[in-house]
Amino acid sequence: MAAPVVAVVGGGQLARMMAPAATALGLHLRVLVEGAVSSAAQVVVDAPVGAASDPVAVEALVVGARVLTFEHEHVPNALLADLVARGVAVHPGPDALVHAQDKIVMRTRLTELGVPCPRWAPLADAGDLAAFLDLVGGAAVVKTSRGGYDGKGVRVVRAADGADDWFAAVTAGTGAPLLAEELVPFTRELAVLAARSPSGEVRTWPVVESVQEDGVCAEVVAPAPDLDPTTAAEAERIARTVIEGLGVTGVLAVELFEVASPPGGAPRVLVNELAMRPHNSGHWTIDGSVTSQFEQHLRAVLDLPLADTAPLAPWTVMANVLGSDLDELTDALGAVTRADPAAKVHLYGKVIRPGRKLGHVTVSGADLAEVRRRARAGAALLRGEAPEA
Ligand code: ADP
Repeated sequence: MAAPVVAVVGGGQLARMMAPAATALGLHLRVLVEGAVSSAAQVVVDAPVGAASDPVAVEALVVGARVLTFEHEHVPNALLADLVARGVAVHPGPDALVHAQDKIVMRTRLTELGVPCPRWAPLADAGDLAAFLDLVGGAAVVKTSRGGYDGKGVRVVRAADGADDWFAAVTAGTGAPLLAEELVPFTRELAVLAARSPSGEVRTWPVVESVQEDGVCAEVVAPAPDLDPTTAAEAERIARTVIEGLGVTGVLAVELFEVASPPGGAPRVLVNELAMRPHNSGHWTIDGSVTSQFEQHLRAVLDLPLADTAPLAPWTVMANVLGSDLDELTDALGAVTRADPAAKVHLYGKVIRPGRKLGHVTVSGADLAEVRRRARAGAALLRGEAPEA
C-alpha cells in the first residue's frame, strides 16, 4: 500500500524539519514551497512550487492526501473552509487556525475562555488609543491584528499619535485592524507546547524559557529554570484550556509572559501569542525529548496515538543562529564539532542574510550553566564569531 500523504503548506525550515520525522514514520510528505530552492524544497522530493494563497496550488496539493497541514498561518481561511466542506481533512482546521491568524479574534476568544491575557482593546482610531493609554497608565503595545511575525507589527506607544501611520494604513486598506495591549512588565518569556489529535488526546512538553532578541527567539532553555511549580501547572492548564477550547489539532505553541506576584505568591502567566504548528520554542525537542514536536505534529494531524514527551536530560538549551558573518556554514560545522563533539547542529539550507534564522545548535546535559555556554558557543561559531570566554 502507498504511504499516507501529508500535505504541508509552506516550505521553510519548519517543513524541512518535518521531513526526518515523516521518513521515520513511513509517511509521504508533500510540501507547497515558495520557490524551488526553499529550505524544505532542498530535502523533500515532492515539493510543488506555489503560493499559499493560490487556490489552484492548494487544490493540487491535497489530491490524494490523507491530511492538509501547515508550517505557517498565512493561508486564506475561506480556502480552507471550502476544502473542509468538501471533506478534506485539514488540521488544524480553519475555525481553530483563525486564532493564530488574527490577534483580535484570539484575544476575544481567550477572554471568553477565562484565559489570563494582558489588558487589551481593539482600536478604531487615535481616540481609542488615547483612552487605552489613560486606562493602562501611559504605555501600550500597539499591534496589527494580522500579518505580524518576529516582532514586526508590534510597537510600544506612549502617545495617542504614536500609531497614526498605522491608522492611516488601515484607512487606506493596506493595513490590518489594530489592537492595543498593556505593556506587560514581564520578568521573562515562557512557552508551553502541546499537541492534540482529532480524537482528543492531548500531550504537553515541559514549560520552557524563551529568550528574545529584537523580537526574535534567540535561545530556549528546557525546562524553564527556577520555575515555580504552581506557575508551571498554571501554564500547562492554560495550554490545555486553549488547545481544547479552540479545538486545535496538531501542535500548539502558547507564548507566555511571566509576571511577578506580590511577595509570597507564585508568579503569574499571561498569554502573549499562539502558533498552531511546530514552533521555534520547540526545536529543543528534536534532540532533547523522547518525541520531537515535528513527529508529534505528524502523529496528531493523522490521528495516530501521541508519543512520550519526556525530556531526555535534566537540561537542554537550543541557541538559534541568527545571521552569520560567514559565506557558508558547512565549514563551521567542523569547528563546532571539534570544540564540542556532543553539540547537535541543525542547518536550514538558507541563503545568509543579516538576522535571518539560519539554523540552531542544541546541547543537553546535567549542568545548566555549562549546557547554555556550549549551545551559545556553537551558535557563535556558526555566526562566524569567536565564542565567549
Ligand atoms: P509577533 O507576532 O511579531 O511574534 P508578538 O506579539 O509575539 O509579535 O510580540 C513580539 C515581542 O514583543 C514579544 O516577544 C515581547 O517581547 C514583546 N511584546 C509583545 N506584546 C507585549 C506586551 N503586551 N507587553 C510587553 N511586551 C510585549
